[in-house]
Amino acid sequence: MSLPNPNQIIMTTAVKSNKIYFREQFGYFQSIRRKLAIGLIVLFILLPFVRYQSEAALNINVAAQTIRFFAITLYPQDLMIVGILFILAAFMLFYITRLYGRVWCGYTCPQTIWMLMFNWIERRIEGSHQQSKVLDKSGLNIHKIFKKVLKHSIWLLIAWLTACTFISYFVPVEELYFNLFNFKDYFLTQNWIIFFTVCTYINAGWVREKMCLHMCPYARFQSVLFDNHTKLVSYDEVRGESRGARKRNQIKSSGLGDCIDCKLCVDVCPVGIDIRNGLQYECINCGLCIDACDSVMDSFNYPRGLIKYNNLTDPVYRWKPHLTYGSVTLLAFLSLLIWIINRSDFEVDLQRDRNALYRVNYAGTVENTYTIKVLNKSQNAKEFQVTLQDNSEFVLEKQPIFRLLGGQSKTQVISVSSNSNQPLGKKQIVLQVTDLTKQNINTIYTRFYSPKQ
Ligand code: SF4
Ligand code: SF4
Repeated sequence: MSLPNPNQIIMTTAVKSNKIYFREQFGYFQSIRRKLAIGLIVLFILLPFVRYQSEAALNINVAAQTIRFFAITLYPQDLMIVGILFILAAFMLFYITRLYGRVWCGYTCPQTIWMLMFNWIERRIEGSHQQSKVLDKSGLNIHKIFKKVLKHSIWLLIAWLTACTFISYFVPVEELYFNLFNFKDYFLTQNWIIFFTVCTYINAGWVREKMCLHMCPYARFQSVLFDNHTKLVSYDEVRGESRGARKRNQIKSSGLGDCIDCKLCVDVCPVGIDIRNGLQYECINCGLCIDACDSVMDSFNYPRGLIKYNNLTDPVYRWKPHLTYGSVTLLAFLSLLIWIINRSDFEVDLQRDRNALYRVNYAGTVENTYTIKVLNKSQNAKEFQVTLQDNSEFVLEKQPIFRLLGGQSKTQVISVSSNSNQPLGKKQIVLQVTDLTKQNINTIYTRFYSPKQ
């Protein structure tokens, strides 16, 4: 089977500035994609309504700078975790791309899902892709105005619902919809919703595949992730050529390949390319052309698979390099998960008094003051006690207890004084903050200053 080398992706001229009227196609891959898209949309809509301990289970609070995910709340101090999570997600995406090409784009990317959803609405209102084309070329009349107004109204409604759902990841649903319908907090809710409504409407309704072709950076560099093991949608040139029209059940004349040149694979392509010209950077590996071609092959009693997901190398061998990449990424994900689960759920910050290194108190002993800040990163109320690690030379006044609600922080000034009247110079002392619920201890090393001899 002759397949294009993934390292020789053709920069086609298939990118059209005009609207692509692509035909609806049903089949195996389209069914997988539709089910996956419906599942993801339902998840996107329902997630903000999920509650955990009477609050939104998933919430990104921009004002408080926190991300809440069920029992975990991440603070700016956990930026490293978020950063590593994004890096690992990118590695996972690269891994999937190396295995199956741009399946992220074809099956799960919101741009593709929303574009196909808008196209589905267009087909229901304007008819087939050909009828839609004719309608666009026809002059202005009541029939056309009605269809266009109806289509754009539904598009706008879906865009508005999308924007509301998106914002509900940042503003809890009950607060968002209360503000929305009572015209409260105008800037933060109404304006952002209008902004995202316009973005969704323009992207999915007008920009469509041009976003993937001209604006998405991932689309531009994804081809460097392909190798000879990557499964890409490809046309079997040896079997298909030379192409030519013929009648069903007619014996194939010599010299003709299996491609009947019906161009169905081109009609169904959402990015408007002809896969028979070889691997092209516009291809999002959606498999629509496979379903289309398989239906043609069935009707001509030819074997399926003239267009199919294929790779250049022996399928038995291809898993070897992928396993290493996948195992390392999975291991990194598991390590990150263990880190998140075991991280301390309180943060302590200690600052020395900047105005005076020390002072001599009424008892004649040397005293140092510190400002301690305790942040309860858990979602439950907790008590934390500050103590001085066993040290006969120093004493911590009062051993303060911090009673903090989930997410609350408190700052307090504490004093450590020397037990002796003898000069000590500079000494290290160790303070401990104990979570009295879990008996977790956070240890802080600092210095105690007193006059030298
Ligand atoms: S759908 Fe199949 S038979 Fe028809 S033009 Fe495309 S490759 Fe050829
Ligand atoms: S060529 Fe086939 S797989 Fe690629 S985008 Fe077009 S329909 Fe999808």
